[in-house]
Amino acid sequence: MRKRWPRSCFFIATLGILIFVTSNDSNGEGGVNHYQKNLRYLSWGGFQRNIRPHGETVENTKIYLEIPDLKWRVEQMKLWKSAIKEAVTILPPKFVKKLGRLRFTFYVDRYTWETAHPSGNTVYVNLLPSVKRPEWMTWEPWPSDGFTREEMIFIALHEMAHIYSIGEELDQLYYYQYSGMAWWNDSHLEAISSIHCSSFYPSLDDDVRVISGHVYYGGQSFDVGKAVDHCHVHDFGVHDYENSFPFGGWPTLYGHVRGRNEDFADTFALYVMFPEYLEKNFPFRRDIIKSILAREYVTRYPMSGSIPSHLSRTIKDTDKVSGGDK
Ligand SMILES: [Zn+2]
Repeated sequence: MRKRWPRSCFFIATLGILIFVTSNDSNGEGGVNHYQKNLRYLSWGGFQRNIRPHGETVENTKIYLEIPDLKWRVEQMKLWKSAIKEAVTILPPKFVKKLGRLRFTFYVDRYTWETAHPSGNTVYVNLLPSVKRPEWMTWEPWPSDGFTREEMIFIALHEMAHIYSIGEELDQLYYYQYSGMAWWNDSHLEAISSIHCSSFYPSLDDDVRVISGHVYYGGQSFDVGKAVDHCHVHDFGVHDYENSFPFGGWPTLYGHVRGRNEDFADTFALYVMFPEYLEKNFPFRRDIIKSILAREYVTRYPMSGSIPSHLSRTIKDTDKVSGGDK
């Protein structure tokens, strides 16, 4: 499915000041509404055996680890289902409709660290992952001391974000979109890396004229402000890929270590549950998720269990730091 994205651009003034311009098409809503009708997209696959995790094995497979009995599994599934329902009913109906059918199925694999993974529109939730960490995991594993309700909601949101972003093209899109300068033009993705604007530099041949505070490029209009009279559009080059990243860091350690898909999924869950953390540290990313969900949230969940240890900045930093994206 191709999507048209709200335009946004990153505009680098010649004075060295970074100004982020984005179209504001989101509806700010206070509070968290429960959209019960979203539940019609949700179904359960029950408990299944023989589900293979995507994550690595961290336990010695020569040692037999028993699967807990039915009573324990039913109880765990009840807790997960309640949390998953909450995750589904706090998302905007439009977004859930876009995801389409959602199915959550449960299994137990005690040999892996993996908590959940999606496959198509089905999410497989591992009721009892190992608490052993793989080498790259420097934070507390989710199941340390069992799962808190907030952890379950976070994981459910994370997996739904994966369902949204599955597909290589979309992964590419996030890559560009995180830089703020990509859009779908009918059937293909167009991207620029930055727009350098100036009011006093001599105009170059390939400069783009500013008309009423807007630059027109690639059939799109970018709001660059009225203080400039010409801009230079800088296309992506191979060397720009890492250098032009404007967001300065990753909201979670997992996203940092495991790449863009995980980064996106974690950022998505943070946006819904802990918007203040993004607001204060990663406003650029906050804006991207805002453009996808077209609504805002207020922080109303406690950061329980392992959640704080997953963050790349401490909550204490969050109190002090602002504009970490810049
Ligand atoms: Zn993930």
